[in-house]
Amino acid sequence: MSKSYLVVGGCGFLGRYIVEALLARGEKNIHVFDIRKSFDDDRVTFHIGDIRKSEDLELACKGISTVFHTASPTHGMGYDIYYSVNVIGTEKLIEACIKCGVKQLVYTSSSSVVFNGNDIVNGDESLPYVDKHIDPYNKTKELGERAILKAKSVNGLLVCALRPAGIFGPREVQGWPQFLKAAKEGKNKFMFGDGNNLCDWTYIDNVVHAHILAADNMTPNSPISGSVYFITNDEPIPF
Ligand code: NAD
Repeated sequence: MSKSYLVVGGCGFLGRYIVEALLARGEKNIHVFDIRKSFDDDRVTFHIGDIRKSEDLELACKGISTVFHTASPTHGMGYDIYYSVNVIGTEKLIEACIKCGVKQLVYTSSSSVVFNGNDIVNGDESLPYVDKHIDPYNKTKELGERAILKAKSVNGLLVCALRPAGIFGPREVQGWPQFLKAAKEGKNKFMFGDGNNLCDWTYIDNVVHAHILAADNMTPNSPISGSVYFITNDEPIPF
């Protein structure tokens, strides 16, 4: 049976690249769910709605076999908005997937779910969640991830969580363009550590590839469902 895809947050940086990768390999049944519309494409069905509203989600999830959940508020917001979208919204999306008989739910988590500000060197997926997060975004990404993993096998749903660190690439607006702007304006007056710090930044194509691989390979008999995966480039880069 041919697959149908819904990219939640599909008008964002990562979500749109996932849509483009699906289009590039000839997928015919591609849907986007987002609170805003950032591009046009006749080959894509757009559902404009709020992930915090079950009725919006259920309309979009009908007839879908694979959901990619990439939605999250932008950086620098308060706990309430992160909690409502990343936790309540994720729970409502899970409910809609279960109700509509969606087969696979691939969640874009974050490596920050295991980060409390202390150095991590050669960390892997055996790292536990941290007791205290450094910001509300990280905390709510953990809670969203936990909700996703708990939904494994409910009504046959297959789930996994992918954890990139910072994502970079063309059309990215929240990270590197802001760092470069600050540098150009002479605002880089502080240095953490001795200048040799390494930080994991993942190129957008690698993050997209991980999402597609997860969806292509997450069958009922594979170990993918219920698992989390860090998504990295080969090497961390100086930061
Ligand atoms: P983005 O802000 O570009 O895209 C997120 C999309 O979610 C936006 O289009 C936004 O409109 C949508 N959205 C927000 N609230 C919504 C709501 N209430 N209902 C429906 N849609 C809503 O973000 P991104 O950089 O593409 O990040 C995608 C995912 O990857 C996020 O889950 C983020 O936590 C995760 N992540 C990002 C990075 C990074 O460096 N960008 C790193 C690790 C993890």
